Amino acid sequence: MQSNNGGLFCGKLALVKTSWTPLIPGRRFYACLTKDSICGFIGWVDLPMCARSKTIILGLLININTLEERCNGLVRSINMLQEQCNGLLSRNNMLDARCDALKDEGFKLKMYLCASWFMFVIVIFSI
Ligand SMILES: [Zn+2]
Repeated sequence: MQSNNGGLFCGKLALVKTSWTPLIPGRRFYACLTKDSICGFIGWVDLPMCARSKTIILGLLININTLEERCNGLVRSINMLQEQCNGLLSRNNMLDARCDALKDEGFKLKMYLCASWFMFVIVIFSI
């Protein structure tokens, strides 16, 4: 295959890539494997598309990009909700610990009340 720089190639096998530019959407071409190579543009794999095909492909690309943006927004929302959920869970754990401490204190107070009644009864009957 001819190169646009006079047939100068690095000698490696060409890679098939797809153009996604607005002017040439979805058309495959040969590209060099070497980054910043001297090969330049090697050639097209596919024949040129008709205007209708380009319009349809560009419309589909716009739809895909729109859906990807919406998907990214939903992922951001999910992450925010996950952070809020984690905050609520840690707050719930703190409240559970405080509730346990209050239950322990309530049990101690009941014991003090029973003991004071017992002492009161003993004092009353001893008089
Ligand atoms: Zn090359």
